[in-house]
Amino acid sequence: MRSDPLAYLGDQLEDLRTQGLYRSLRILESEAKATSVYDGKSVVNLSSNNYLGLTTHPRLKQKAIEAIEQFGVGSGAVRSISGTMAMHMELERRLAEFKHTEAVVVFQSGFASNAGTVSAILTREDAIISDELNHASIIDGARLSRATIKVYPHGDADAARRILSELPSRQRKLLITDGVFSMDGDLGPLPALCDAAEAYGAIMMVDDAHASGVFGRNGRGTVDHFGMHGRVDVQVGTLSKAIGSLGGYVAGNRSLIEFLYHRARPFLFSTSHPPSVTASCLAALDLLLEEPQLIDRLWENTRFFKDGLQALGFDTGISQSPITPVMVGDGARAMQFSDRLFQAGVFAMGIAFPTVARDKARVRTIVSAAHTRAELQFALDVFGSVGREMGIV
Ligand code: PMP
Repeated sequence: MRSDPLAYLGDQLEDLRTQGLYRSLRILESEAKATSVYDGKSVVNLSSNNYLGLTTHPRLKQKAIEAIEQFGVGSGAVRSISGTMAMHMELERRLAEFKHTEAVVVFQSGFASNAGTVSAILTREDAIISDELNHASIIDGARLSRATIKVYPHGDADAARRILSELPSRQRKLLITDGVFSMDGDLGPLPALCDAAEAYGAIMMVDDAHASGVFGRNGRGTVDHFGMHGRVDVQVGTLSKAIGSLGGYVAGNRSLIEFLYHRARPFLFSTSHPPSVTASCLAALDLLLEEPQLIDRLWENTRFFKDGLQALGFDTGISQSPITPVMVGDGARAMQFSDRLFQAGVFAMGIAFPTVARDKARVRTIVSAAHTRAELQFALDVFGSVGREMGIV
């Protein structure tokens, strides 16, 4: 009998089990809401990127249903062949207006936006200067581009500047940072990075996945938050988190966007969004403009929950956003903390190596505008009692 050539994968999974790092997927059995049913249990959900609660908003659902009735459930092709619908163009036009840029291209995900863009605009002759904690999709895009990758310590704009100064002046350079870092919830130092990029003629790029709908006026992102309009050449946003649906986009000048229409591989080789997704994104954009108080509520909840965790004595790291890590240290202990919280009715994901450094395992919490005070207070009470039982506080 043929031996299984994939047996080594099973061995590696066994290693994960031994280390206490094996995870089975939690299954969502209700709508994705502030309190959701996972694995048959109703839990306060602190593990979702649904920042504004839009995944279940009646207006988004209604627009998606209407789009299905009118246009069906799929586009049938990639954008560059026959899969560009009028609605896709309308979303790009509306997003460009929203971001105050000349143009926007929408991709199937934030991941595709980063990976597709970085790999398209750089070649093996170029250099990319990247924060050590930048998202995996940036790292993959950089590797695909075959550019030289220079990594600077997290948030260290001086180090980024030093690297830029040491590269040949003729070499094309891309300086790239997450706007909000997904594991620590802190902000990239945009003003200092923009200064450095300008000093050395680098392209400046920001991945605003966790800032879209969260930071800046009406959720325009960190470029708006820091007043950096016109100084960031490539802005990535996501439609999968605060916007409540699915997708990502790149905002910039017209030649960047037209170039991506011609060269970005997810645009050229992967089918475009179904009409329902695009219609719900358009409805979400309307809401950001008409009901900015949704974002105010997100921030009120963020302050309440973060203050509560700190008052209980937890180490919440360096967060400046609705993402608040509760630092634990050891990976297996973080996973155990997360499991015990879940049993007590709170879903906050344990995050360990390789997603974060080996000694920086944590339980990550994400607050949304849709959480009630009662839900957040319940979660704080559970964190307090489980944290004390485990000797974390
Ligand atoms: N960038 C960052 C910083 C992210 O956290 C994520 C989502 N995990 C993405 C990009 C990818 O976005 P999407 O889920 O839309 O693919």
